Amino acid sequence: MKYWNKLSSAQQDLIITEALRQNVNYQDGGSLGVPASVLDDKVFYGQASFLKDSPWLRLYVQNPNHIGCHTLGDSEPFFKGTQALETEVIRLLSEDLLAAAADSTDGYIAAGGTEANLQAIWIYRNYFQKEYGADCAQIAVISSADAHYSMVKGAGIFGLTYYSVPVDFQTRLIDESALEKMIEKASEAGIRYFIVVANMATTMFGSIDDPGVYTRRLQAAGLPFKLHVDAAFGGFIYPMTASQSQLDFSNPDISSITLDAHKMLQAPYGTGVFLVRKNLMGYVYTEQAAYVNGMDLTLSGSRSGANAVAVWMILKTYGYYGWQEKIKMLLDRTNWLCQELTRRQIRFYRHPDMNIVTINSEDLDPRTAEKYYLVPDQHTGPADWFKIVVMDHVDRPRLLQFLSDIDR
Ligand SMILES: *Cc1c(COP(=O)(O)O)cnc(C)c1O
Repeated sequence: MKYWNKLSSAQQDLIITEALRQNVNYQDGGSLGVPASVLDDKVFYGQASFLKDSPWLRLYVQNPNHIGCHTLGDSEPFFKGTQALETEVIRLLSEDLLAAAADSTDGYIAAGGTEANLQAIWIYRNYFQKEYGADCAQIAVISSADAHYSMVKGAGIFGLTYYSVPVDFQTRLIDESALEKMIEKASEAGIRYFIVVANMATTMFGSIDDPGVYTRRLQAAGLPFKLHVDAAFGGFIYPMTASQSQLDFSNPDISSITLDAHKMLQAPYGTGVFLVRKNLMGYVYTEQAAYVNGMDLTLSGSRSGANAVAVWMILKTYGYYGWQEKIKMLLDRTNWLCQELTRRQIRFYRHPDMNIVTINSEDLDPRTAEKYYLVPDQHTGPADWFKIVVMDHVDRPRLLQFLSDIDR
């Protein structure tokens, strides 16, 4: 572990206090040009006494703006103290969680998984345009039918065609012969370049894609591709539980990864994470962003620095081993739930390294599903599946209550 150590709250306080000292201090009167200030003090009580006990609330009131990407080039100097903590988060996740070589990635805290996925599609579209002279009509986004709908959004926003590969109903594995035919059909339709998105846990099932299913075929057909991993849900679980992963930066085919700190990590909303190998962010350089120091290479403009530091605090509170223990505990609980369902002959899908259990709707009274807010695979018609996500608050007493309702 190079970055992912554990820090006490007193140690965190010292580091955050020092970071704030390095940021612009509006009270000193030194900043006349930045269109920013602390949060409105009529509303947010900048002097309240409880702030002294909470470095994060102090920081929240100071309201640093983390616009841009801080792992390369220059950044706004006004917020360099807290930007350094964001950079540490990017290094930590790339290297200590996702097996990247030292200083081999860039990244930033995005609004969410959706933005991080869009950022990837944006970079690769521009990459194919610039390096291959590609036309949008020749570029496709391809992912499994269980992929998040942000891929469809991304293809639409960036003017690309979207291909959805069917999966097997019970195993949720990509249908390889359908993929083969789809690539042929896409080629016939003039598609020459592929933006592949592999899932490190789908939202509905927690199923994991084998990226080789795509890359072997595209390489054999001589079709250029870029491979992005959507680990918005699984990124803080699967790397800790899988004995070996094809879905991190140790796989040379993978160029970028999305994570979501506001799901399993329980960070505030607005904490998606985009990680990408060096020398790719530059494809989305917007020359017109002249008033921003350094370069704005991100889809969002201004964004909260407090959010980035919240992610830093959570990671440092647990440390790598503390987080691994927490995930193991959730997985044990998921194993137990699956045994209980099996004993009752209730059919479900579950990936053994994940904490999602998706129950066949035929085996569950929809009223029970509704009572416990299980999420259906669709809201518009009758559901095929209902899912349970075993998180911190989904504990055994609650699950026992659910099971006893099933037994009634
Ligand atoms: C939640 C999720 C997203 C989208 O994330 P937001 O943070 O809601 O934008 C993308 N992909 C997967 C797999 C997800 O689970």
